[in-house]
Amino acid sequence: MALHDITARMQAATQAAGRAPGAVTLIAVSKVQPLDRVVAVLDQGHRVFGENYVQEAAAKWPDLRARFGAVSVHMIGPLQTNKARLAVDLFDAIHTLDRASLAQKLASLAQARGTCPQLFVQVNTGAEPQKAGVLPADLPGFLADCRAMDLAPHGLMCIPPEAEPGTPHFAMLARMAADHGLSGLSMGMSSDFEAAIAHGATHIRVGSAIFGARDYGTNPDKG
Ligand SMILES: *Cc1c(COP(=O)(O)O)cnc(C)c1O
Repeated sequence: MALHDITARMQAATQAAGRAPGAVTLIAVSKVQPLDRVVAVLDQGHRVFGENYVQEAAAKWPDLRARFGAVSVHMIGPLQTNKARLAVDLFDAIHTLDRASLAQKLASLAQARGTCPQLFVQVNTGAEPQKAGVLPADLPGFLADCRAMDLAPHGLMCIPPEAEPGTPHFAMLARMAADHGLSGLSMGMSSDFEAAIAHGATHIRVGSAIFGARDYGTNPDKG
């Protein structure tokens, strides 16, 4: 199990960037992983996880929280509006606020509940047509709309284009967050989290480097 290695690399990158110890939260992305691997990481004391699918998370985390106590679970996958209610019950943070209809739904749920998960606005920094996220040019208007609904996003999130180095995207996201007074930066995955930390990531999302490769073939639940 590679949790210890990743934690050590994260700490080294944080220090190398001249940032405070603890400035970066490691989200262990457990989507599609066999339960025994997730339990092994919980047994080592890790308590922050990421999931991509509401139903998979709903099947897994209530039991694991009952066994292991408080665990922070972050939604990092696309969120359908009709699953928003389940999502706000389940997740401590949602990294994929990417459209006005979802903002509206989350705002009305937050109003009714009096609480809201921590929110990150997903930005499509590469302007890829197939990728979710608010386009950089649309971000100021989107944030203004959120604030008008009494939603207060904590930060920004991005998934750089697969074929490109992440660094320019991390730098762009950090600049946009600073421009808008947002402190959270969700960026960096198994292959590039050290670069993301150098550019100010506060949350890195690391899956395969901790748990090993994902085998989508054995997972019946993609929703
Ligand atoms: C799956 C996933 C990750 C983790 O990816 P790895 O390459 O396994 O570290 C991070 N972020 C998002 C949005 C993901 O969907």
